[in-house]
Amino acid sequence: MGLLDQQFEQDNIILTKAEDLINWARLSSLWPMGFGLACCAIEMMSTFAAGYDLDRFGVFPRASPRQSDVMIVAGTVTFKMADRIKRLYEQMAEPRYVISMGSCSNCGGPYWEHGYHVVKGVDRIIPVDVYVPGCPPRPEALIGGFMKLQEKVRNERLRAPQALEKLMAKMQES
Ligand code: SF4
Repeated sequence: MGLLDQQFEQDNIILTKAEDLINWARLSSLWPMGFGLACCAIEMMSTFAAGYDLDRFGVFPRASPRQSDVMIVAGTVTFKMADRIKRLYEQMAEPRYVISMGSCSNCGGPYWEHGYHVVKGVDRIIPVDVYVPGCPPRPEALIGGFMKLQEKVRNERLRAPQALEKLMAKMQES
C-alpha cells in the first residue's frame, strides 16, 4: 500500500512506516549531477530547461558531486574520461544512483564495434540503476528514467551508508 493510500477519512491523519516516509522524501528530492560527455548532453540540458519543468518531479540539478545523489552519464564514455567518472561517483553522497543516458553510455553505441577509445558501457566502471535507450533519447525518455528511479527508491530498504557499514564491520573484527 502506498504512502498516500493509507490516509484515513479525516484529511489530516496519515499512518505510515518511517521507511516509507523517508523514501518518499528522498524520491521527491533527487539532485542529479549532469555529466555531459557528447551529443546526449544537449537533450539532458533541454530536459532541465523550463519547457519540461523537471522541478515538478522534485529533480533539481547540482553542479557538485558533493551535493548530488544521482549521476546522469549522458554521452560517449572514453577511456580517458573513465577514471574521472569513477572519482566523481565516489565523491557523491550515499545512497547514490546512476542513470545511463543514451546508447553510447549504455553499451558503446555507434562505437561498439570499432571505437578503440570508447568504454562499451559505463556499467563497466560504476553501477548503473537505470538505462535510458536512444541516440539521443528525447527529454521525455530521460524524465521516464527519473520516474523509474523514483520507483526504485520508493521500494528500497533503508540501510546504513557503505562507509558506515565498513566501519562497523571493522569495529566488530577488532
Ligand atoms: Fe551522441 Fe548518440 Fe552517443 Fe548520444 S548515443 S552521445 S546522441 S552518438
